Amino acid sequence: MSAPRAIDLHMHSTASDGAVAPAGVAAAAHTAGLAAIALTDHDTLAGVEEARAAGAALGVRVIAGVELSAVDAAGDETHVLGLHIARPAPLQQALEGFRTARRTRALEIVGRLNALGVPLTADAVLAEANGAAIGRPHVARALIAGGWVADLREAFDRYLGAGRPAFVEKRRLTMPEAFALIHEAGGLAVYAHPGRDGTRERVAAFAALGMDGLEVRHPGHSPAETTRLAALARELDLVPSGGSDWHGAADGARTIGCMDVPAEWLDLQEERLARRRAHTVTA
Ligand code: AMP
Ligand code: MN
Ligand code: MN
Ligand code: MN
Repeated sequence: MSAPRAIDLHMHSTASDGAVAPAGVAAAAHTAGLAAIALTDHDTLAGVEEARAAGAALGVRVIAGVELSAVDAAGDETHVLGLHIARPAPLQQALEGFRTARRTRALEIVGRLNALGVPLTADAVLAEANGAAIGRPHVARALIAGGWVADLREAFDRYLGAGRPAFVEKRRLTMPEAFALIHEAGGLAVYAHPGRDGTRERVAAFAALGMDGLEVRHPGHSPAETTRLAALARELDLVPSGGSDWHGAADGARTIGCMDVPAEWLDLQEERLARRRAHTVTA
């Protein structure tokens, strides 16, 4: 019997802050021997169609996904993955609003950098994003290209990270808003990279608000956290998910497929989707 092929349910393309085009992401997944991937760009579904077409030609299943930025009731930023998006229409307008806000924020970041004596232009950042949902990584790449910082790490440590002088908050959803948008679009709402913030109390509170799943496997998790989160998912009846959060070659050790997520987790997610749909029909 051949070994079951792994999957990877968290990755980014040039549609947001990844370095590789959607078709290239599907090709990289094929090279890595993956059976399925979810493309989960920040605030956009724009890369899904291209990744799907490329994946279909290579035998890699591509699941439509998105990564939303939300804040919990205490004001702590929490990312939510919408996986298995089946009806994008109700989501699109909200995503467009977030992309517009991201662009305004990027210009504000440039203004702050200019005030700090870094003569980065808005055009350089917009060119770096090339129409994508703009994020701090695009600003960071423009800073590197201009020779003002050596690498991404320095860009975030000196200027762009939370609490640093060019940091500007993003526009974000509340958790119930994020879950509702994902559910309207026919998807599953999954708490992304919970890590140490994923306490039992927070996860249980999100589950009570309708959250479907927990990202158990992520490169940011220690082995102990992964074990704890897997147990928590079972206990709270949340579907497990996992992925590399790949942003392209510059991610170093964080390679595509590196979390070795079992294909069975996709079966669990599909069972949950079927349950959700049955509920929606009778509701
Ligand atoms: P934004 O969505 O604009 O707030 O940018 C957040 C993105 O920046 C994340 O999704 C990561 O891709 C990236 N990022 C966050 N922190 C760092 C860091 N310290 N070094 C490199 N990339 C980072
Ligand atoms: Mn990112
Ligand atoms: Mn994230
Ligand atoms: Mn991500």
